[in-house]
Amino acid sequence: MKSGSFYVSTVGRVLKWARANSLWYTSTGAGCCADEVLNASGNRYDLERFGCVPQVDAKQADLLIITGMISYKAAPHLKAVYDSMPSPKYVIAVGACANCGGMFAPEFSYSAVPGADRIIPVDVYVPGCPPRPESIMNGLIALQEKINGTGRNHHKAQ
Ligand code: SF4
Repeated sequence: MKSGSFYVSTVGRVLKWARANSLWYTSTGAGCCADEVLNASGNRYDLERFGCVPQVDAKQADLLIITGMISYKAAPHLKAVYDSMPSPKYVIAVGACANCGGMFAPEFSYSAVPGADRIIPVDVYVPGCPPRPESIMNGLIALQEKINGTGRNHHKAQ
């Protein structure tokens, strides 16, 4: 390997590592899943040890954690929040409501969007109603692996 490409790949890896371990997040804070995100951020589960720090202003955040049902009325505001975040930016959808509409799915409600990915791109889906804080941590680790290119989905099939 030429020394130039060695430095480029090493700097690239360091940047990915730094990005994956300093995910400052903002959250929609809707629904009962928001309590589980708060729980995961508390001192028992402590998301901050993964470098995942809450931010009030979306302009300071590079991770959007979506919780709860998204109504069609709220959808443009969610898109505006996402658009105001600096790139590169990532999204985790937490719970059945954010993933697919959950109990408010179109079969049951005319006003619910059937999943956050109908509005903005989603990187990781955390299943459950509600998911436990461990599941949210698992989703965060999956996102870190995705950013680093070391995730379970990045292994070649045998
Ligand atoms: S997925 Fe379940 S726990 Fe989460 S916001 Fe929807 S109804 Fe509440």
